[in-house]
Amino acid sequence: MLIVQKYGGTSLGDGDRVRAAARRVAELHQQGAQMVVVVSAQGEMTDLLIEKAAQVNRRGNLREMDAYLAAGEQMSAGLMAMAIGALGCPAVSLTGRQAGIVTDGVHGNARILDIDVSRIKKELGSGKVVVVAGFQGCGPGDDVTTLGRGGSDTTAVALAAWLKADRCQIFTDVDGVYNRDPRLFPDAKRFSRISYEHMLRLIENGAQVLHDRSVEFARDAQLRVEVLSAFTGAPGTIVGP
Ligand code: ASP
Ligand code: MG
Repeated sequence: MLIVQKYGGTSLGDGDRVRAAARRVAELHQQGAQMVVVVSAQGEMTDLLIEKAAQVNRRGNLREMDAYLAAGEQMSAGLMAMAIGALGCPAVSLTGRQAGIVTDGVHGNARILDIDVSRIKKELGSGKVVVVAGFQGCGPGDDVTTLGRGGSDTTAVALAAWLKADRCQIFTDVDGVYNRDPRLFPDAKRFSRISYEHMLRLIENGAQVLHDRSVEFARDAQLRVEVLSAFTGAPGTIVGP
């Protein structure tokens, strides 16, 4: 059983939340699952980094922004691997490049073109949990690229597709996909299942629960993606055929 889990920024917002996620991962590993964990930058880290960059260069430099922003996810990956390791479960963190994620050269909005999963498979084979920094890859000329805001979802789904994972779980701060933003509309209704096409339409209309390209990858690979709450772990929404 190979499981890909992704944890978003809020789900890793502080040390307690990182440890809660690490416990879930370690438990599944102990039960015999191979675990690949994709992480976003903690909390509002990416927004903060964007603000800081604007303080030193108002016009921006897309290549350097990618180098800078990718660090947020790399910090999360190292932190998560340490949290998992502290539970006695061997874990290794990988950057997007180390994880074999190859993208085009569109800085700030790169597309994943290919994934060389050999390093991940080697680490899994040696019994480790593999923690991958989301949102980033390696473009032409060996440069760091990022996948666009919210792109860690796409890292997770693409990895699940390339690794032929048995499960792909996106842990977030809501307990599934709703017909309207549940944080604004208390009467919003949660889907227990939703089709790729319906999900893509919700995203077009502003839903932010999943990155659009993650749903496209899932559809093209006919992969079921579970969206669920990092806080309860209760069954959420399955995005599927
Ligand atoms: N940290 C990045 C962002 O805020 C990527 C992600 O969270 O998926 O857009
Ligand atoms: Mg997101």
